[in-house]
Amino acid sequence: MSIDYLALANAGVETLHPYQPGKPVEELERELGISHSVKLASNENPLGLSPKAKTAIERALPELARYPDANGFALKTALANKLGVDTQQLILGNGSNELIDLVFHTFVGAKQQVVFSQYTFIVYAMATQAHGAQAVVVPAKDLGHDLDAMAAAITEQTKLVCITNPNNPTGTFLSKAALAAFLAKVPEHVLVILDEAYTEYVTEEERHPSIDWLAQYPNLIVSRTFSKAYGLAGLRVGYMVAHPELIGVLNRVREPFNCNSLALAAAEAALGDEAYLSEAVALNSREMARYEAFFDSQNLRYVPSRGNFITLDLQRDAMPVYEALLREGVIVRPIAGYGLPHCLRISIGLEHENQRCIEALTKVLA
Ligand SMILES: *Cc1c(COP(=O)(O)O)cnc(C)c1O
Repeated sequence: MSIDYLALANAGVETLHPYQPGKPVEELERELGISHSVKLASNENPLGLSPKAKTAIERALPELARYPDANGFALKTALANKLGVDTQQLILGNGSNELIDLVFHTFVGAKQQVVFSQYTFIVYAMATQAHGAQAVVVPAKDLGHDLDAMAAAITEQTKLVCITNPNNPTGTFLSKAALAAFLAKVPEHVLVILDEAYTEYVTEEERHPSIDWLAQYPNLIVSRTFSKAYGLAGLRVGYMVAHPELIGVLNRVREPFNCNSLALAAAEAALGDEAYLSEAVALNSREMARYEAFFDSQNLRYVPSRGNFITLDLQRDAMPVYEALLREGVIVRPIAGYGLPHCLRISIGLEHENQRCIEALTKVLA
C-alpha cells in the first residue's frame, strides 16, 4: 500500500518547493573538508549578538521550564514606547516570516489574488501558493518594484499586496513620495504588507514614515524583524504594526506561545542597545562602499543597495562562480530561484570577511 501524500495535501502544495536557505558553514566544511570559511549568504548581522541581548538571554535561562509570556508584554511595551504606538497595534512573531504566513492564514483564501513584484522576497510567492491563492506577479522596473504597475494590477479579487523596502534580493529602494502615492491609490479592502526587514540600514532622512502612515491607512501592515540589524536571526523574532482591530483579528489565529522566552528577552535588550545598532549600520555602509569600489574597479555590474547585502550581476550563469567561491571557502547566495540566474547576492560581512570574498572573487573571475 502506498499513499500519495501530495494528492492528500491542500491545493497549491503539489507545485510548491521548499525554501532554499543560504548554505550553512558547517555543511560546506563537511562537504569540502575545509575550515575557516565565511558565510555571506543570509543577510545576518556579522557583529554577532549584542552584549545586552546576551546578558538578557543568560538572565532568562532559569525560567525556561515555564511557558513564555503569550502576550509578550515587556517587548511590546518597549516597542510601543520606541515607535510611539499603542501596544494593541503590535503583534510579535517567530520571525516576521511567521507573521507574513499568519496574515495569509487569516485573510487570504483560495482563488483570491495577491499582488507582489517580480524579484522580491520569495516567501510571498510560497505563501500565496500554499493557500491556493493566485499570485499576480508584476514585472520589475530596474530590478525593483514598479508601483504604478502594481497599483494598476489591483482588482476586485485582490486581497493583499506585498511590498519590500528596501527590497530583497536586489536592495532597490522606493522613495517615501512614491510609496505614499501608491498607498493613496490602494482601495481600503486591500491589505498592504510593507516589509521593512532592512529599514534600520536606511538613513533617517530617506526612511519612509510608515508608522505615521498607519493612522491614515487602516489597511497598512508594517512588518519588521530582529533578524537583520538587531542580530537575532537564530532566535526568530519579528513584529508587525497595524490598526488595533486588524491586530486583534490576527491574534485569533496566532499560536499562543509563538515567541519563546529567550527571543522575547533578547529582543527587548537588543532594542535598547543603540550602540550596537549604530555600529552595525556604520559597519554596513563602510563595507558596502568597499564592495562598490571593488566592483567599479573591475567593471562589474551591481545593483546599488540600501540593505545589508549587494547583488552582483555577472551577466552570465552565476552558478559556476558560486561553486568556485565555495571551494575558496566563501559562501554567497545564488538567486536563480528569484529569477536572477546571472546574479549572486553577497551579504555584507566583517572587514576581513569582505576582504576574503573580494580576494576569492578576484581569483575566481580571473
Ligand atoms: C530576512 C527577511 C525577513 C525576515 O525574516 P525573519 O523571519 O524575521 O527572520 C523578512 N522579509 C524580508 C524581505 C527579508 O529579507
